[in-house]
Amino acid sequence: MGNDLKSVLITKEEIDAKLAELAGRIDRDYQGRDLLIVGVLKGAVMVMADLARAVSTPVTMDWMAVSSYGSGTRSSGVVRILKDLDTDIAGRHVLVVEDIIDSGLTLSWLLTNLGSRGPASLAVCTLLRKPEAAQVDIDVAYVGFDIPNEFVVGYGLDFAEKYRNLPFVGTLAPHVYGG
Ligand code: 5GP
Ligand code: MG
Ligand code: MG
Repeated sequence: MGNDLKSVLITKEEIDAKLAELAGRIDRDYQGRDLLIVGVLKGAVMVMADLARAVSTPVTMDWMAVSSYGSGTRSSGVVRILKDLDTDIAGRHVLVVEDIIDSGLTLSWLLTNLGSRGPASLAVCTLLRKPEAAQVDIDVAYVGFDIPNEFVVGYGLDFAEKYRNLPFVGTLAPHVYGG
């Protein structure tokens, strides 16, 4: 596995520190409120697990799985719900938790969809964001790290379903993806 990685972009310690910081802000912003955090499968599993344990605010957790129609690694913005929420979010304070915002097309679609269900509030927390790849402007309340426009894996993020269990975020060596 060591051979497959080009470099470690964000260490486990940096992720932990950043999530503690974001959790502190979330605690202040949602004080006295009933918060539902929604993780987008599968990439957000690690962020959800660690963020949920870092906040003091009592939260409930739910999950969605979506698939973006598109060729290869390109997101098209045309999205299909593979697993919907179990929760009726009408009147609820909802925080969508993402692993990464690349073009932003998937999340943009998701926010429109969730917004139509009448939540009391709707906000986004993402561990990673690639500003150079943005195709839509999304207001993201909580951003962990802005990163260069490079393909990253680890901490929930996969390449062909591998590397999700790495405790850090890294970049792949070109030979792994045929570069
Ligand atoms: P978007 O609609 O923002 O272009 O796509 C978001 C999704 O694309 C993410 O949830 C993730 O599954 C995938 N993605 C985008 N960039 C990367 C990346 O650098 N590494 C990995 N592993 N997945 C990515
Ligand atoms: Mg995601
Ligand atoms: Mg993936």
